Amino acid sequence: MRARGHRARDGHASLTRPRLGAGGLTYHGVMATLTERQTLELYEKTGALMRGHFRLTSGLHSDIYLQSALVLQYPEHAARLGDALAAPFGDAGAQSVLAPAIGGILVAHEVARALGVRALFTERENGVMRLRRGFTLTPGERCLVVEDVITTGGSTREVVECVRASGGAVVGVGSLIDRSGGAAAFDVKRVALATVSATTWPPESCPLCKTGSQAIKPGSRV
Ligand code: ZN
Repeated sequence: MRARGHRARDGHASLTRPRLGAGGLTYHGVMATLTERQTLELYEKTGALMRGHFRLTSGLHSDIYLQSALVLQYPEHAARLGDALAAPFGDAGAQSVLAPAIGGILVAHEVARALGVRALFTERENGVMRLRRGFTLTPGERCLVVEDVITTGGSTREVVECVRASGGAVVGVGSLIDRSGGAAAFDVKRVALATVSATTWPPESCPLCKTGSQAIKPGSRV
């Protein structure tokens, strides 16, 4: 098997490894991309995206169920998604990629691998998003913030604030899926591989329940 970085994917451009330039890691290649349809196909075939009638952990009912861990459990899919999310930031000069734990860790890892830079994650400590475990940023370090799914943008915004408070500069925000309906805005470049619109309702006003359908609790099926 040839090195992953030189394998053409679905007839798209192959990935080229970044090379170490005078100013640090600089990206010089063309990366594999995924269309929105290809991204959603990966999610759907692994059960990471289901359409139907679901009871979420919050108690709300929804017509969409999203669980990125189910697609990211396959390293090959995770690498493909990471490459595709890294591609539009190839010239952003990112020196590290950060994501909130736990859902974003694998995304940061794969995007960072594609860009040839470090992958870090933030965790909440007493309710505040912080860099722990000895992770540090150099003054002015150029950081790309990523997530698996952006719903309200809340935790992503906390990571952006954490980077800035730690002396870094945010060069962009990327997510595999945007389910905010475009509502989550950022003051930096923003990319999502796919947009998913999902509606949630309290059970008493759920239109799907009114049709006589039974809500499924994802993950509890046998
Ligand atoms: Zn319902």
